[in-house]
Amino acid sequence: MRFMGTNVLVTGASRGIGAQIAKTLAAEGLKVWINYRSGAQEAEAVKASILEAGGRAETIGFDVSDEEAFVAAIKSIVESDGGLSYLVNNAGITKDKLAIRMKGDEFMAVIEANLKSAFVGCREALKVMGKKRFGAVVNVSSIVGETGNAGQTNYAASKGGMIAMTKSFAQEAAPRGIRFNTVTPGFIATEMTEVLKPEIKEGFIAKIPLGRFGEPAEVAEAIAFLLSDHAAYITGETLKVNGGMLM
Ligand code: NAP
Repeated sequence: MRFMGTNVLVTGASRGIGAQIAKTLAAEGLKVWINYRSGAQEAEAVKASILEAGGRAETIGFDVSDEEAFVAAIKSIVESDGGLSYLVNNAGITKDKLAIRMKGDEFMAVIEANLKSAFVGCREALKVMGKKRFGAVVNVSSIVGETGNAGQTNYAASKGGMIAMTKSFAQEAAPRGIRFNTVTPGFIATEMTEVLKPEIKEGFIAKIPLGRFGEPAEVAEAIAFLLSDHAAYITGETLKVNGGMLM
């Protein structure tokens, strides 16, 4: 067993990378709380596939950018399970536009959805985990948070902020033995990247030394490692999962 903890909350786990993170962690023996915002049916399908494989899972619907709802959700998990061992802040959105056309509200909407939500999750997790002197958090950032990207000033700022925020949480939490790390996926085959035009996709693939988009399972494995006891001496780290696109 790689995990001394017992349960995990994965935000945005109704599809894409989050759904795979939920399945990978359930296969490791953790009870998984599958968060979703609008995709209740999809979240139930993720739960069903975990139960079918002999794992443990519950769905929990809330909007991560609603601070009160996020706080209440963690409280209800702790009431149900007696604690929270791990958190993966995975939920994220894009609202791409060239900066010169982007309104302040459009910029802030992505900061709220991606960065503020992760802050609230980290803060609440630290309170709960700190009491037990046990736990770990992984925040799902992006290669774009490291490199920037034209048309994604809002998304890049949210994901870059997440990297620095995670290191700050790691420093505050280390005395209590709680670890905070980030993964920065490159281009992963999900609905988020499905919308790209074929010629744009080809252009990105030409820049990826491993010559392909990554699979959600490849991101999920990196996250499982960072949460696990095998990473007990790793905190404040930013782990790239990008096929060599940025070294
Ligand atoms: P996706 O397929 O678009 O799935 C996003 C998930 O997040 C969905 O389950 C969605 O649930 C949920 N979500 C969005 N906003 C939410 C909110 N406010 N509250 C609760 N849940 C919310 O995205 P993905 O490609 O799997 O990406 C997952 C994470 O990886 C994101 O943080 C993304 O930025 C990051 N990432 C992705 C890539 C990539 O190439 N795909 C690369 C780098 C980083 P609902 O459908 O219910 O709204």
